[in-house]
Amino acid sequence: MENNCIFCRIIAGEIPSRKFYEDDDMLIIADIAPQAKKHYLLLPKKHYANIVEMSAEDAATLAKCLKKLGELTDELGLQDGFRLVSNKGENGCQSVNHLHIHILGGEKLSEKMA
Ligand code: AMP
Repeated sequence: MENNCIFCRIIAGEIPSRKFYEDDDMLIIADIAPQAKKHYLLLPKKHYANIVEMSAEDAATLAKCLKKLGELTDELGLQDGFRLVSNKGENGCQSVNHLHIHILGGEKLSEKMA
């Protein structure tokens, strides 16, 4: 856990969040500033900044998290489809340096991605 990381503090329960799912590897919460009717964040519990910094073990854990997400889509109201996004660095407009996957859906999204 990184003390000054907002997502680490959410994972530790120090900052409240709207939790939809939790297991040993990840948390799925509502984004505080939604950009689609449904906007969740998948937060791996282990702190690393982005995919460039992740280890092979982190990558295997993230794959497990994505598999689980695939099993939760109905429960999350995403049965008609969704989009996954992970911003990295300045050009990607990443604002929180703890790897996270945005899960957007609940409506027809823009065909443009940038
Ligand atoms: P990014 O800009 O890709 O790093 O995404 C960070 C996301 O975290 C943004 O969509 C924010 O709205 C979201 N966010 C920041 N603080 C919180 C919080 N306390 N609870 C839930 N989402 C948050």
